[in-house]
Amino acid sequence: DGVVKFEDVRFAYDPSRPILKGLSFEVPAGKTVAIVGPSGAGKSTISRLLFRLYDVSGGHIRIDGQDIRDVTQTSLRAAIGMVPQDTVLFNDTIRYNIRYGRWNASDAEVEEAAQTAQIDAFIKASPKGYETEVGERGLKLSGGEKQRVAIARTVLKSPPILVLDEATSALDSHTEHEIQGALERVSQNRTSLVIAHRLSTIVGADEIIVLDQGRISERGTHAQLLEHG
Ligand code: ADP
Ligand code: ADP
Repeated sequence: DGVVKFEDVRFAYDPSRPILKGLSFEVPAGKTVAIVGPSGAGKSTISRLLFRLYDVSGGHIRIDGQDIRDVTQTSLRAAIGMVPQDTVLFNDTIRYNIRYGRWNASDAEVEEAAQTAQIDAFIKASPKGYETEVGERGLKLSGGEKQRVAIARTVLKSPPILVLDEATSALDSHTEHEIQGALERVSQNRTSLVIAHRLSTIVGADEIIVLDQGRISERGTHAQLLEHG
């Protein structure tokens, strides 16, 4: 059912410079936890560790109680849907890019995923719709549109755990609003870890963890954190 648990996780890219200094938190099944904090705090590192792009140097990361070091890469990749902050799309159609999440999906399912990720308005507005090519040969999508295509791909894959690393690039407020809506719809009832670079996205999270220099400096709901100032 996808419970994610970090137990006293320590990590350093370079042994002389620790990045995470004993981090413990849990994402209960079906809940959304947002990680916030200044640039360089170690937020994206958390998602890289969960996906095992790197291994922890101390502590444990568990999914449903099992240390991820004891899980095969294949089942880890199947359990976690990751939307990275810099989405790279294939130089092919939008439909192809969304369908990459699950090749045997029907057209209706592809369209439903696009709708959930709120990319469908864009698709309908463009002359060739889903057959619009992304990348150099065709129409260039903005960073926000690309991220929504990646979100649609992940929705179609429908993994038990969702990791969303929000784009850091400057987005206009309309795009930001659309992405926020997409994230909210996608994370509903799904175990979700949101690496938040914008305050607007964390309002709906069940718990917000404030990371500062590799440690948790504050945690709580949006309302609780506002109370504490
Ligand atoms: P955030 O997402 O909070 O901005 P990151 O997790 O990306 O922070 O990075 C945390 C720290 O780790 C930063 O000081 C960054 O410079 C460093 N860092 C990130 N990636 C690497 C890497 N591959 N090798 C060495 N240092 C890295
Ligand atoms: P972001 O700040 O958008 O999360 P990254 O996580 O990719 O971006 O990188 C965070 C910081 O880590 C940046 O300042 C980047 O220069 C630095 N960084 C990334 N990869 C490496 C690396 N291999 N070695 C050293 N520093 C790195």
